[in-house]
Amino acid sequence: MKKFSLSLLICFILMACSGSVKKENTIPLKEPTDPKDTEIWSPAPPTVNPVSQNGAPSDAIVLFDGTNFDEWVSAEGSEAINWKINQAEKSMTIIPDSSSGSIKTKRDFGSVQLHLEWKSPSIIDGDGQNRGNSGVFLQSKYEVQILDNNNNETYVNGQVGAIYKQAIPLAKASVPTGAWNTYDIIYHEPIFNKSGEKTKSATITVLHNGVLIQDHFEIKGTTEYIGFPKNIKHGKAPLFLQDHHCAVSFRNIWIRNLD
Ligand code: MG
Repeated sequence: MKKFSLSLLICFILMACSGSVKKENTIPLKEPTDPKDTEIWSPAPPTVNPVSQNGAPSDAIVLFDGTNFDEWVSAEGSEAINWKINQAEKSMTIIPDSSSGSIKTKRDFGSVQLHLEWKSPSIIDGDGQNRGNSGVFLQSKYEVQILDNNNNETYVNGQVGAIYKQAIPLAKASVPTGAWNTYDIIYHEPIFNKSGEKTKSATITVLHNGVLIQDHFEIKGTTEYIGFPKNIKHGKAPLFLQDHHCAVSFRNIWIRNLD
């Protein structure tokens, strides 16, 4: 038995000396001369099927697939959700002037990758901030503006794709009014210390129809209609979709936790 262990040890030392034992996750400090010296083989990242859930990645939480409000509650409290589901289109639409109210997810989220699709009403009604206005609020506090800006000017830090009142989008990348837009959002939540001070700002990157419109912007604080952004310590919180009295529709919403 002792003999066996000793030969095993010798064998291991010889393998290590000859470089046949792969080091994990390390790059040698000395300038490598062999391409293999800079290869890392483990740990391997998880495999994700990008389209396994009707187009959503296999590790995503599907928040809305067009069939039900199971992942959502009214943001107003115990009110029933009064948005209209269109099964054929797999969408949900705000019903203006019906006290539809905003909605939020039942689940709380921190840092996430979010995909959603939205469209403004094809019948043009209103102007400025009153045309096709909605918004997606990360952690219920930080709004990425949704607006029908086609031939409809408004203040640029409140236009479509703005981090409302904080960051002008890098481009206006809307499709025609009434067509489906996509938002792909990478969001990292803010960090607060024990005494409640913010030690790291939230950051957000937004692609609008595949076009980069927010590039790792450091969010200044909460979205405020009037006044400066606020920074009050918070934890994980729901995703929130705004009812701004416009018949904006949503479909294909999924989210991946990045925590
Ligand atoms: Mg809005």
